[in-house]
Amino acid sequence: YSIQIDVARVDLRIVPVVIAMMFGGLPSALVTGVMIVATRFMLTPVEQMDAAVVSTIVIGVFILTIAVIRRYIRMTFWNFELMIGIGILYSLPAIYLLTNSWTTFIEVSLAYIFFNLIAGFVTYHLLTELRRHFENIQYQQKLAMTDALTGLANRRRLDDSLSLVGSAEEGYSLILIDIDFFKHVNDTYGHDAGDDVLRQLGTTLASLARPDDLVGRYGGEEFLIILPNTSLVDAKSVAELARTTVARNLFPTTAVPDLQITISLGIAHSSSSHTSLEALQQADKALYHSKDSGRNRSTTYTKQLQLEQA
Ligand code: GH3
Ligand code: MG
Ligand code: MG
Repeated sequence: YSIQIDVARVDLRIVPVVIAMMFGGLPSALVTGVMIVATRFMLTPVEQMDAAVVSTIVIGVFILTIAVIRRYIRMTFWNFELMIGIGILYSLPAIYLLTNSWTTFIEVSLAYIFFNLIAGFVTYHLLTELRRHFENIQYQQKLAMTDALTGLANRRRLDDSLSLVGSAEEGYSLILIDIDFFKHVNDTYGHDAGDDVLRQLGTTLASLARPDDLVGRYGGEEFLIILPNTSLVDAKSVAELARTTVARNLFPTTAVPDLQITISLGIAHSSSSHTSLEALQQADKALYHSKDSGRNRSTTYTKQLQLEQA
């Protein structure tokens, strides 16, 4: 919309052009400019065409000028207002051409300068505030899905992923991992050493996972790996790789530089026939079997195991 002040129609068109330049660069600013000019031509009566032509030239030169400025300086509030200022400056000769006396020119110009500076100020602050707000939401979303100690997926993210992976055509596998005698580590070397071990184990597991696998801390000293489109046999080899890697490596902490740990694992496979909760329960039963039969081993959940445990 524009406001009629005396003979001139005053509008805020330079503001969207500067915003487009700020967020999208030259192509966005050009599209904005073309839209403004096209609308201007459609709305302008034939006898006032010269005004539309003048404003087209002004917008064109203005876009080129601010494109050059944006290339060389970083966008801050002052640079934003500088661009608005340039837009105002370029528009003044056009306003002068349209007005026929100095007093009208001064009157119209003052209104033009005032409204555009205010509009620039308000939009810049509104947009940066909105941007900050969205960045903050993204950050909070990430935090809500991340385990603070290990940086891996947390329980919430794993549960979300479990509910999605269930819909895949091919079956997926789950590996549930529990550190052996972890209470002993805490009791002997302290809780901080225990935390150190959890962090290192998290890194080790993440490094072994394949790109599509999701590794997370399911709770306490239990980790879960979700392996989409993976057979029981393939899951078993991932689990064994994890188990042997952990058993062979040291988990040095400040208190004990040569600390060693082992893990027990339970593996289950799911097709679309049963829920992810059932698959998780099966992995848990298999893990229990690993613990029960001596620890530092992995067990796959099979019909056989089901019968044994019944
Ligand atoms: P098992 O071989 O049967 O698994 O024995 P365990 O000692 O590992 O099992 P238990 O469930 O008795 O002990 C788990 C321990 O894990 C107890 C708890 O103090 C410790 N733990 C759980 N979460 C954390 C954590 O965030 N940090 C530390 N340092 N320890 C944790
Ligand atoms: Mg446990
Ligand atoms: Mg344990």
